[in-house]
Amino acid sequence: MKRCRRCHRTLKDPESIEVGYGPVCRKKQRIRAYQLELRFNPAIDPNLSNIEKHKRVCEIIGLR
Ligand SMILES: [Zn+2]
Repeated sequence: MKRCRRCHRTLKDPESIEVGYGPVCRKKQRIRAYQLELRFNPAIDPNLSNIEKHKRVCEIIGLR
């Protein structure tokens, strides 16, 4: 039985098993990645508008 690498709950759906995280933790990981990029990635110009920053971060972490 596969377990989530973050919270150690049992994974049921094939997608979660594939990535190693449950749906809730996947979302949390993405939010964390997003915030890290937003704060620390020098490629994101702090003078950009929030919408532009959002677009850049999404490109970097592969969100739509
Ligand atoms: Zn989890």
